[in-house]
Amino acid sequence: MKVLFVRKAMPLSNPWIENFFVGPLQMRCSVVTDRETGDTIIIDGGDEPQRLIGWIDSFVGQGPDWSTGPSCIEEAKQNNLPKRRVVALVNTHAHFDHSGFIPVLKEHYDVDWFLHPDDTMLQTLAQKSGLRYGLQLPNPAEADKALEASKWHDFGSISLQVLHTPGHTLGGCCLLIEVEDAPNHVFVGDTLFAGSVGRTDIPHSGGDFELLASSIHTQLWPLELDTVVHPGHGPLTTIGHERASNPFVGDAAGSGVYGFGKYA
Ligand SMILES: [Zn+2]
Ligand SMILES: [Zn+2]
Repeated sequence: MKVLFVRKAMPLSNPWIENFFVGPLQMRCSVVTDRETGDTIIIDGGDEPQRLIGWIDSFVGQGPDWSTGPSCIEEAKQNNLPKRRVVALVNTHAHFDHSGFIPVLKEHYDVDWFLHPDDTMLQTLAQKSGLRYGLQLPNPAEADKALEASKWHDFGSISLQVLHTPGHTLGGCCLLIEVEDAPNHVFVGDTLFAGSVGRTDIPHSGGDFELLASSIHTQLWPLELDTVVHPGHGPLTTIGHERASNPFVGDAAGSGVYGFGKYA
């Protein structure tokens, strides 16, 4: 029997979103806060945990590379922003650049880590994969809770819809946040990039270009065109821009043997 899932949290109004490019692969870690409650989630806390903790807890250190929030503690106070409380760690997928330092964040915040179960095996390899880049990673974390395809998950007052988008990895997911009277935001990991798509040739990941293209076409293209896309690497983009121009999966991609867009 199908289990019904009732969403309790409302769309956010004016969410406070910060992007940090972390680690040698400059992976985008996103921190999302509800300005009303202070409830905060960390998406893909894969590296530089002390930088994240320093900024989230007390506005010290380098801070984010992109933000819709205050740039210092004085500004936060002026705007009557509540103290932030991290309520969950959530991942788009389990490649080491996205998940390698989750154990440090888990220990500091003592909250559950959410991952799609189809990436469980991949997660056990994080330490080994990191070594290839000269990274000494802690023993890999195990996910506490499973992300479930198509469902809304409430993390405190923040609600995320999980769009399961296999193709880059088996358990790859995109995470959608609805915003009141403004564009929504979707955190896509390495499924989609500005002008490109995720690699499908990484060992032990279950990569498959046709599956990836199908995931993008069925899960991402139906979203509102002005939805802001936060890829795991590189610049921000929108669903509309990628639909129109992405050479691999956009409307302009060829579907014949000479086109990149093999999936019709
Ligand atoms: Zn990846
Ligand atoms: Zn990545």
